[in-house]
Amino acid sequence: MKRLALFPLISLALLAQKMPPEAEKQLAHDIYKEMIEINSSVTTSTTTPVVQAVARRLRAAGFPESDIFLGGPVPGKWNIVVRYHGAPGSKLKPLLLLAHTDVVEAKKEDWSPDLDPFKFIERDGFFYGRGTADDKAQAAIWVANLIRYKREGFVPNRDIIMALTADEEGGTHNGVRWLLDKHKDLIDADFALNEGGGGEMVNGKKISLNVQVAEKYVMNFRFEVRNKGGHSSVPLPDNAIYHLAGALTRLSQYNFPLKSNEVTKNYFSQLAKTETGPVVASLKQIGEGSLEAMNRVAAEYPRWNSMLRTTCVATMLEGGHATNALPQLAAATVNCRVMPDDSPEFVLETLKKVVADDKVTVTSSRATTAVPGSALRPDLMKQITRITDTLWPGVVVIPSMSTGATDGKALRAAGIETYGVSGLFGERGESRAHGQDERMSQDSFYGAQLFLYDLVRALAAN
Ligand SMILES: [Zn+2]
Repeated sequence: MKRLALFPLISLALLAQKMPPEAEKQLAHDIYKEMIEINSSVTTSTTTPVVQAVARRLRAAGFPESDIFLGGPVPGKWNIVVRYHGAPGSKLKPLLLLAHTDVVEAKKEDWSPDLDPFKFIERDGFFYGRGTADDKAQAAIWVANLIRYKREGFVPNRDIIMALTADEEGGTHNGVRWLLDKHKDLIDADFALNEGGGGEMVNGKKISLNVQVAEKYVMNFRFEVRNKGGHSSVPLPDNAIYHLAGALTRLSQYNFPLKSNEVTKNYFSQLAKTETGPVVASLKQIGEGSLEAMNRVAAEYPRWNSMLRTTCVATMLEGGHATNALPQLAAATVNCRVMPDDSPEFVLETLKKVVADDKVTVTSSRATTAVPGSALRPDLMKQITRITDTLWPGVVVIPSMSTGATDGKALRAAGIETYGVSGLFGERGESRAHGQDERMSQDSFYGAQLFLYDLVRALAAN
């Protein structure tokens, strides 16, 4: 009964929402459906048919062949880059719109029986399918909006480049890095818009819109102990497994120093406006740099803890070779998520100190560098705030740092400032990206279509 009583209120709220014109919604819907129904799983499939389908649509919409680049390091991992020309003679560097077309593996048997990860199913106000959230919604919206600008004869004040790329989800042929390496001129830009930002809802009410301006980076370490071993009937105190276990126990008890930066201070100050209860005061104090408040919040909330410090955690384990032999090898993988301003050397040196055992070697598996976040561009923040206020009054815009990683890091490292912004909203704590029954609310998808249409137009207007 309660639900029935609420229904008219919800319908009124939906009616009040601004949405793209019906024909534009249909176009975005069809592109999205086509993308979802092409299985582009990162390790078992290919992105090439996705970008070929996009190229067909762009050609049909009048984009010349000379402005469409299709290619990749191997035949199954193609990317597409399309250039939408700005006014002739413009001195402004281009704006880059980025999304990835690969998705995390999904098996039909792991999903609810009435769903299929590679069928676009529309139900109860949601679109279901692998990639509906990560990252084919944004990819489809970029394509639909570009086609709309073209039809409307929009002439931007700078070139707009769209790149839809492969292997963001951990494959070996990352499209952004490949393009930067082999075809930097194709995607070189003043700045880029990417995934990594999103809106949060609480019980269906839109609360905040995150703009990702920085991200933590990943380092994987191997803790390894070698030993000459021997017969297990004659144990020795010097045992590879015990050395490793001691090191991991010390790791589990260690916390990296708490720290904040311009982005996270701003984040917690803004967050305080969207939260309720006693935590609000602490969040505000973090915004003012209080270490005590950081301590309190980090101890209680794992999600915020990971925004306030570098974290390292054991994720894999191996060791021993027989039930009746002393182990000759014990090893663990330790996955670290590093604050953008902590250096790789600092993390390595800290781990060696924490391990405090010269029998345990600590090595990092791949060379990496710290990449600072992008500066908060006033023009971008102003437009995001203006459009947010128009479409979703009361929603707070929050510059944020992702604790996960995106391709934004590669762009930032190459000197292209990158901002994660989508206008796609999801329920707080309910992300199904990478997981079972991935979905996107229809209202959120079309709202983001309009948001990004306005945003890109405003950023590239005379
Ligand atoms: Zn993604």
